[in-house]
Amino acid sequence: MDNELKRSNRRQRINIERDKLKIEVVDMRDLKISIIGAGSAIFSLRLVGDLCRTKDLSNSLVSLMDIDSERLDAVYALATRYARLLGSGLRFEKTADLRKSIEGADFVINTALVGGHAEQAKMRAIGEKHGYYRGIDAQEFNMVSDYFTLTNTGQFNYFLKIAHTIEELVPNAYFLLASNPVFEGTNLISRASGVKVVGFCHGHEGVKDIFKVLDMNEKDVDWQVAGFNHNIWLTRFRYRGADGYKFLDSWIERESENWKPEDPFDVQLSPGVIDMYRFYGKIPIGDAARNGSWKYNYNDEVKKKWYGEPWGGADSSEGWAWYQKRLARSTAKTEEMARDENYDLLKEFPPEKMSGEQHIPFIDAIVNNNGVRLVLNIRNSGPEGDLIIPSFPKEVIIEVPVWVDSSGIKPEKIDPAIPKRIVNMYLTPRWMRMEWAIEAYLSRDISILKEFLYRDPRTKSEEQVEGVIRDIALSNPAFKEHYSL
Ligand code: NAD
Repeated sequence: MDNELKRSNRRQRINIERDKLKIEVVDMRDLKISIIGAGSAIFSLRLVGDLCRTKDLSNSLVSLMDIDSERLDAVYALATRYARLLGSGLRFEKTADLRKSIEGADFVINTALVGGHAEQAKMRAIGEKHGYYRGIDAQEFNMVSDYFTLTNTGQFNYFLKIAHTIEELVPNAYFLLASNPVFEGTNLISRASGVKVVGFCHGHEGVKDIFKVLDMNEKDVDWQVAGFNHNIWLTRFRYRGADGYKFLDSWIERESENWKPEDPFDVQLSPGVIDMYRFYGKIPIGDAARNGSWKYNYNDEVKKKWYGEPWGGADSSEGWAWYQKRLARSTAKTEEMARDENYDLLKEFPPEKMSGEQHIPFIDAIVNNNGVRLVLNIRNSGPEGDLIIPSFPKEVIIEVPVWVDSSGIKPEKIDPAIPKRIVNMYLTPRWMRMEWAIEAYLSRDISILKEFLYRDPRTKSEEQVEGVIRDIALSNPAFKEHYSL
């Protein structure tokens, strides 16, 4: 049975059951969800936990796919044990074979990082050797340290490999992209393939930091964010009918001087973000808070001034080292949890509440018509073919609030519109950089990447550009081969 048929049968079943008021009897045993890069244990277990908690999906088959067999074995052991503890009927398979995992899947979630953090560290070090602080992938409005858009050829190759495999085997499946760079990745996939790609990020959760500090009950806040992935802004902010920004203004006046970060990622109300708010008139949200201009990012000292001592945010040398240590600890802990049959998984992953990731609520909404408001990366095209953000073409992927149910993804009308200064001075330059990166990749024309670097304020000479590209090619086989260097 092909996927579309399966899905429509399922919906039919749901509707028939609804008519008889017997909604629970729906049989979901034929739903398959593939998780690529499943060895990322914390992420996979969050998804598995959400699946266990989502009654209408709890009989699905979850295909865990990773090329690292040790990580895969550990996640498989933990996932099966956790599902058992929660009394869920979820079924699991594990495989290192991409095609096998995608075969028959209704939803394919990609969370893989090709080459891993070590490869990115190598690229960063080469860039720094040639005078590019934090590497050539760190760019204006794109400072997040694992959001590589120039040297990550292997990651782009893999995005397309997955997309083409879906096209061939399960053309009606949804491709949920969680791996970064979500902005470049979703645009690349939607231009180079026909799959239904949707980008996922939890960055918009940054709004909650603002509501918390302003002591606002979330359900009394009327909010919207809009922009691109890692580049979203709080465009609508109303609290109990009043302008929410007035509350933020008085917090800034009274409290912002006493602000101190609790960890390197705690930058939502940092001086740099308040400075961006003063300039642009709205506040950047989540990872957008890390993605300012060079003003905040010239070097570690400057980052400390704007993102707070002692780290200077997550993307300084110290901040990223802090994160890498935390990742290493979490990998070690995964191994320990997998080894120890008696490890208290329910304490580690409390069963009561959903993880906050959007993937499973999305699937539940599409399959079971359990409608939900999410913030997703979709084409800039509204229900009538109108533009959701009028400043950008319809093929560009934007990040906006949407309503999802079994009839599909319905974007909200962005009201009020994104201010002109944000469009002209922030989003448009960021959009262009996405276009350059994709054009370089698709045309395999290294001169585009070089031209990118000539426009980089860290570049002082042609020799510097030639040198950094040469050294990257020497230690990055996918890049070398792709650009025929
Ligand atoms: P990680 O390196 O810890 O884990 C990635 C996994 O991918 C590893 O288990 C690795 O073995 C696997 N992998 C590598 N190549 C593979 C291949 N060819 N096929 C299958 N699996 C492969 O990385 P991480 O820190 O978990 O980050 C993973 C990705 O998720 C990154 O791109 C990161 O930027 C992104 N991320 C996204 C969000 C979001 O909200 N969208 C949040 C955090 C991280």
